Amino acid sequence: AMKQRLLVVANRLPVSAVRRGEDSWSLEISAGGLVSALLGVKDVDAKWIGWAGVNVPDEVGQRALTKALDEKRCIPVFLDEEIVHQYYNGYCNNILWPLFHYLGLPQEDRLATTRSFQSQFDAYKRANQMFADVVNQHYQEGDVVWCHDYHLMFLPKCLKEYNSRMKVGWFLHTPFPSSEIHRTLPSRSELLRSVLAADLVGFHTYDYARHFVSACTRILGLEGTPEGVEDQGRLTRVAAFPIGIDSDRFKRALDLPAVKEHINELTQRFAGRKVMLGVDRLDMIKGIPQKILAFEKFLEENPTWRDKVVLLQIAVPTRTDVPEYQKLTSQVHEIVGRINGRFGTLTAVPIHHLDRSLDFHALCALYAVTDVALVTSLRDGMNLVSYEFVACQGDKKGVLILSEFAGAAQSLGAGALLVNPWNITEVAASIGQALNMPADEREKRHRHNYAHVTTHTAQDWAETFVSELNDTVVEAQLRT
Ligand code: UDP
Repeated sequence: AMKQRLLVVANRLPVSAVRRGEDSWSLEISAGGLVSALLGVKDVDAKWIGWAGVNVPDEVGQRALTKALDEKRCIPVFLDEEIVHQYYNGYCNNILWPLFHYLGLPQEDRLATTRSFQSQFDAYKRANQMFADVVNQHYQEGDVVWCHDYHLMFLPKCLKEYNSRMKVGWFLHTPFPSSEIHRTLPSRSELLRSVLAADLVGFHTYDYARHFVSACTRILGLEGTPEGVEDQGRLTRVAAFPIGIDSDRFKRALDLPAVKEHINELTQRFAGRKVMLGVDRLDMIKGIPQKILAFEKFLEENPTWRDKVVLLQIAVPTRTDVPEYQKLTSQVHEIVGRINGRFGTLTAVPIHHLDRSLDFHALCALYAVTDVALVTSLRDGMNLVSYEFVACQGDKKGVLILSEFAGAAQSLGAGALLVNPWNITEVAASIGQALNMPADEREKRHRHNYAHVTTHTAQDWAETFVSELNDTVVEAQLRT
């Protein structure tokens, strides 16, 4: 039989494109979790539709890029600078992102954001329509269309207006907030209604799905059922699909000679000290200041540990042009400096803070030598770092301290030490508990998490979503 075609629509294509000449481009595929997840889905033939992350104003360039991307099974949506500014930086990143993560706007931005709201929302709708146009051009009868994330909440409605028979799914990679939070959004109803046009709506956790259904019942007055949301006899199926990682990719990396050598180097470098690790984008949602303050409290209360533990914090720069993020960076630097000044010696400091990203192999080595990983997100859709750490701990069987506000707490809660990152006293105590944990308890906890991470992979996640979407459409046809 012919494979079913899957059109994956996301704001960004999984490639970085650099223009080399008038009609030449060099492309690099970013090997993230989503890419390997979808490559591994059995019996489907996946294509990507999205923005390539570059402004291409001229037709020659657009044609050349389209052709180059075609070889990578990617189809571009061209967005000009103005719409990127309003839709992407504006509505997506300044309005939806903070709202979905329960972050208030900075005081000084509140009125400005309120004023520019309508024009940004209009740009958001226009951008979503542009994605829909491209999907529609490439759509063939029987295709499955899978829309991703908060950037494309308007897309299901646009697609169904083109063709009500299109199989449309939408998945949110961030949390969906309590309906009391969603209620404050001026475009609250319009957004919910457009998402509901999809056949299947998915979230990482049951809580997020429940929040979404509550928003639909309270704000739109629709009926919530165990299956989803009903509107005049039409059901939109709503369910939880927790994402996973490609755990084999991490295990394979740990077997490479270069990675093994790196592991040996790191082990020697930190001999005699326990290694604690944080890996985060430098974002407000990650609770990096809270994490470092908890570590300080631990050192304060446990003088004997001061020269026996080191915290390695990888803080990947993100949105560096935004003042609030710049402020966070200097705040973190100030705290780290103070703590290193207070507890450092002539030969060692307690915190190594890096404002940079690491390549995949270096990251794997770091995960492998870690004794205790610290994830203190204040809100986080899932948090894949916690999964990746577990996947790399087959030998070491270290401890995961995990925020209860990360989606991962729902799946790794049995093995991790769960904490409320706002409670620094509790986090400091958990650091002590993790560092002193007897080997048998460590192994037992690790076994739980390892079993979960290696059996709930990204590939399973994608397969489950796509087959559920196919089933949902069949059931809807039977009902009518
Ligand atoms: N990551 C990376 N290089 C780094 C640090 C992190 O590629 O130097 C990756 C990491 O492997 C993980 C992702 O960035 O897959 C972070 O995902 P997560 O879900 O933890 O948080 P997000 O950044 O999506 O909020």
